[in-house]
Amino acid sequence: MKNIKQDLEKLEEVSFEIEKEAFRPKILHCSNCNVKMKQKEMEIQVGKDISIRLRGFECPKCSKRYFGLEEAKKLDKAMIMSRLLNDSFKMTRKLSYDGDNYTFRIPKEFTNDVTKKKIEIVPLGNRNFCAYVN
Ligand SMILES: [Zn+2]
Repeated sequence: MKNIKQDLEKLEEVSFEIEKEAFRPKILHCSNCNVKMKQKEMEIQVGKDISIRLRGFECPKCSKRYFGLEEAKKLDKAMIMSRLLNDSFKMTRKLSYDGDNYTFRIPKEFTNDVTKKKIEIVPLGNRNFCAYVN
């Protein structure tokens, strides 16, 4: 188990551990209290603009939280997004409208080694989204 609190120094309200062996654990016991933890859906604030819903576990005794690896990866992406939104590096693209959809061009420097001609779009709230080549 790795305590990732060090990686999250700026996010004081976030404190939990990641069960490395369990990609999507079904049952977990608290390492402090040795009691069965409750499955819980949690909304975690990542930076000021982004919050993310994750399924994790919470100890009913000491309130310690755990996430499986899969959920931890989602949190990772959210943290990257938060960093991007707060960074000064930005690029402006012109939006075209075809009556149905908006389109914009992605600079080819961003698409090195792209073999799939598809991107994924993740909504981040009203008028905000993240598009990435997976
Ligand atoms: Zn506990």
